[in-house]
Formats: sequence, C-alpha cells, structure tokens
Amino acid sequence: MTFTLPGFAHVYSGKVRDLYAPLGDDGAPRTDRLLLVASDRISAYDFVLRSQIPDKGAVLTQLSLWWFDQLADLVPNQIVSTDVPEQVAGRAVLVERLDMVPVECIARAYLTGGGLSEYERDGAVSGVELPAGLVDGDRLPKPVFTPTTKAPVGEHDLPMTYDEVTAKVGPDLAARVRDLTVRILDRSNEIAAPRGILIADTKVEFGVRADGEIVLADEVLTPDSSRFWPAVSWEPGHPQASYDKQYVRDWLTSPASGWDRASGEEPPELPQDVVGQTRDRYVEAYEQLTGRTFRP
Ligand code: ATP
Ligand code: MG
Repeated sequence: MTFTLPGFAHVYSGKVRDLYAPLGDDGAPRTDRLLLVASDRISAYDFVLRSQIPDKGAVLTQLSLWWFDQLADLVPNQIVSTDVPEQVAGRAVLVERLDMVPVECIARAYLTGGGLSEYERDGAVSGVELPAGLVDGDRLPKPVFTPTTKAPVGEHDLPMTYDEVTAKVGPDLAARVRDLTVRILDRSNEIAAPRGILIADTKVEFGVRADGEIVLADEVLTPDSSRFWPAVSWEPGHPQASYDKQYVRDWLTSPASGWDRASGEEPPELPQDVVGQTRDRYVEAYEQLTGRTFRP
C-alpha cells in the first residue's frame, strides 16, 4: 500500500510509515516539509508481516494527533496541517521535516519485556540501579530512560547506555531528550490513569529545527510505540493484558502459527480472527484514551 500522490514525491518507507515530500512551485520536492502516511502494515519481531490490520494507520495517526495536543505545553511538535490528499485522509499528516535525533528515546514506568530481562541479569536497567525483588509488571520508583539505537529496516534496535547517547549527540542534547522523554511518560500516565490505562513504557523520536529547538516528531503514545495496560487487571508477578500487538506476538509464537522464531524465516499470514481482534484492540485503545468514537 504505497500511494501515488499527485503533487508529492515518495522519499522513504519505514516499517509502518511512508514519507513523501510535497512538490514546490518549481516542481522540485520541498526540503522543509514531509507528508507522513501511516499504512496498515504491522511489524513483529523485526518482520513486516504479510497481513495488514484494517484502519490501523488511521488509528495511529488520530491517536498521535490527540497526544500532540495533550502534550503541547510540554514540548513543541512537528504538525503543520491535517489537510492532506483524499486518498490518505485520516491516516496522514503534513509535518516539519526535521533533523532527527539518531536515538530511539524510550522511557519505562513499569518493569517488563527487555527492561525486565536486563534487571534480572544486572539488577539495573540502562545502568540505573533498581531495588531488589521487583517482578514482571511492577511500577518503578521513577521512570527510567532506556534509549536504543535506530536500526535500519530489518535490523534490531540495540540498547544504548546514556554515555553512548552523549557521545553520539553531545551532552546538552542528550540531557534534553532524556528529560523530555521522562516528562512525556509521566504526563501521559497522569492523563491516561483516570481513563483506566497504564502506560508501561513508550518510545518517542525527536527532531531538531534549524534554530536548534527540539521538536516531538514521528508518532506518539500509540499501541505501536508503547505498552498500554488496562489498569483494572494490573497485577505484578506475570505478563499483563495489553492493548498493543502482544496479541499478535503471542499468536506467532504459539503452536497454532507453526512458526519457529529461531528459524529466521518470515512469519506466516495472520488468521482473520487474529487480524480482527488486533484491529479491535487498536480501536479500543484510541477510544478509551480519547473518549471519542473511532470513525474510519
Ligand atoms: P520503527 O518505528 O518501527 O522503529 P521505522 O523507523 O521504519 O521503524 P516508520 O515509522 O515506518 O519507522 O518510518 C517513519 C520514519 O520517519 C522514521 O525513520 C522516522 O525517524 C522518520 N520521521 C518521523 N518524523 C519525522 C520528521 N518530522 N522529519 C523527518 N523524519 C521523520
Ligand atoms: Mg517508527
């Protein structure tokens, strides 16, 4: 699903998003703007799956827009306009084209997944010592910044220490993106809690404007970039129910899929009911957070 959009030139496709540059009056692609189009593609275990999730791109775009608004007093954002070509209406935004900070900025408020494995091995996450005896799903005393590299499509993002971030982007920018990432996660949990959702962790990307201002870019606080847990069923000690693509991951690694993750082969197509359930979870997360009804 890449689109041919009159007036735009395709510049890049990531795992989920397709990027286009609007053409200027001289017919050449503009260098200061991008059209960010979220497709219905879904990735898991670093594979872009053959199956697509209907409406996923629109849900991610609408949820990101809602969050950009919620966070506007904390950090400026990339959004220029939601007035986009008809073919990609709802799933695309026109944004400032930024010089992206080459780090995936992750913060964790609860312990699970990769953070939990690191803690069980080292008693620390990204070099931050944690109290003994924490279990899967526990809330951390305060959110921890756990950055990773931004690997090219098909490769795995690798954990970075804070010193590595400093070496890559300089101490000033490193400190600013770390503090912003943690504040975004804190604020988003304050907003989500009364709506019955815990945000266990999230990944954000920042870009820098020509004048040096740091701007929130890409997508924010979506089920693709974050772990959302229903607060009502939260119970540390085991994996939590979740609105993200954990459902897809669980099916892929179950005997039903017949797929062996260790084989390195491409995963199989998702059955229709798994596609449907996954779509429902994305829509439910959007509706529960925003209080709006999703209209495709
Ligand atoms: P993933 O998000 O799963 O790690 P990906 O990097 O392939 O994978 P996509 O979301 O498919 O991500 O592609 C979006 C791309 O656009 C990313 O490389 C992101 O850094 C870049 N991007 C997002 N916002 C902007 C922006 N305002 N200016 C320039 N580039 C941007
Ligand atoms: Mg992305």
